[in-house]
Amino acid sequence: MKITKSFFIITALLVSVFIACSNEDDAEVLEEETILETDYDVSSILSKFEGTGLSYAINGNTVTFTTQDLPNHTSPYWPANNVLYEAYNGTNNNWHQNPNQIATQNIVLSITLNPEEANNHQATPLGPIGISRNGVVFFNQYAGPDQPLTNEINSFDQYLGHPTGFGMYHYHIEPAYLTSEFGDDAFLGLLSDGFPVYGPLEGGKTISNADLDAYHGHISITSDFPEGIYHYHITGGDPYLNGNGYFGTPGNISR
Ligand SMILES: [Zn+2]
Ligand SMILES: [Zn+2]
Repeated sequence: MKITKSFFIITALLVSVFIACSNEDDAEVLEEETILETDYDVSSILSKFEGTGLSYAINGNTVTFTTQDLPNHTSPYWPANNVLYEAYNGTNNNWHQNPNQIATQNIVLSITLNPEEANNHQATPLGPIGISRNGVVFFNQYAGPDQPLTNEINSFDQYLGHPTGFGMYHYHIEPAYLTSEFGDDAFLGLLSDGFPVYGPLEGGKTISNADLDAYHGHISITSDFPEGIYHYHITGGDPYLNGNGYFGTPGNISR
């Protein structure tokens, strides 16, 4: 009886030592992958860009997008005679339409295909800070200089975008048309520093601000970048898309 018991204890000890060792090995492999993969190349993602009046050209390691910034979905901000005009049918009881209408723009964004972390992180400006996969531009989390979006959110249409006084349609928060079309964990676009933007879901988990760094991103694998890449997430809470500036160096945006 005594012999059997000791034998059992020794076996159990050996098994736990074995399990502890394999866990350690796994952790080391993960760490190595994260350290190795910093030579990013986002060329493979360009084929996902498709929109009205949207085109891009590659020159060396730079992609230049030209966009008319016209959403490929309905909105109450289209002129009433446009086929994409649709009265507001969203869920915000405090919704109020702003006086602006969607108008054709001519926005050109030059973005590196090999994004790197910047030594000095620049703040995102007001106006366009990146381009979503349907050609509509992304804006940051402010309605004006240091003004939170609190009131502006009530003018977001059923797909959570709205136009400026110049008719420039844009998304500050989750572009609901794109996440409904491609999934909450899908690639949504690029910020002008070349780093990709993803929806609020990753690996079945809803990403919150606490999962992300000061720039509202992190390094992990995505379905498009199985070796891992730094990327931004759009979350449900302020700052939604971008935090305390660009992670990389922003390219040129003219409009
Ligand atoms: Zn806005
Ligand atoms: Zn992620």
